[in-house]
Amino acid sequence: MPLTDRQASAFLRYYEMLVETNRVMNLTAITEFEEVAVKHFADSSMLFSPKIREKLSALGIPEEPSVIDVGTGAGFPGLPLAILCPGAKVYLLDALRKRIDFLRDVVSTLDLSNVRMEHGRAEEGMKLRESFDLTVSRAVSDLSVLSEYCLPYTRVGGVFAAYKSADSDEELDRAGNAIRILGGEVGEVCDFTLPASGEPRRIILIRKVRETPGKYPRKAGKPAKSPLK
Ligand code: SAM
Repeated sequence: MPLTDRQASAFLRYYEMLVETNRVMNLTAITEFEEVAVKHFADSSMLFSPKIREKLSALGIPEEPSVIDVGTGAGFPGLPLAILCPGAKVYLLDALRKRIDFLRDVVSTLDLSNVRMEHGRAEEGMKLRESFDLTVSRAVSDLSVLSEYCLPYTRVGGVFAAYKSADSDEELDRAGNAIRILGGEVGEVCDFTLPASGEPRRIILIRKVRETPGKYPRKAGKPAKSPLK
């Protein structure tokens, strides 16, 4: 994907801050420049690649969507998406305050006016219920648990995009009933390979077809302890 000078500088500065802060705070196991560029920046950006954008558009997602990243950690995938699409309104959520403090610093240094963030658990942010065009999440939990975190935030007609490994067929099968209970329906499984490394990756697009019943998500800790079956 072509980057403007401003976007390229933003990714470089983000990389520098990630590596600097990683010396004193556990943010990422990957620090070598090319690996970060591929496994964090490019992987995160894939949702807005022309091919997947086309699919999102066919599912009725606007060009400049509202996005929530649940369990964003050091900002993945939400922050690269915000850099790539300045018209998107991106909301970053994580249960670890230090990571949110780091992200606040990055967003202020990069002067990104389209990003908001909050420290909190996914199960507790329900003032934002049923409100986002897109809910994204990577490397947070199993798809059944993740659906209980993410589908409540997604508006009816929106999409929950789960970043998963390419060998997630069984995980997807196991999560089928939970997705249905929570008002979702699997739309499309997008397989791709990362540039340079050729590593296979997957984004599962789950359409929000019905409102999530009010009793979900269950109270903090419960979805992970007793995943919906
Ligand atoms: N999404 C990032 C990535 O792909 O690099 C971070 C992945 S990290 C392995 C998982 C993150 O999810 C952690 O930062 C953790 O604090 C957050 N997390 C786990 N459970 C959560 C919950 N219930 N609510 C909010 N954040 C949660």
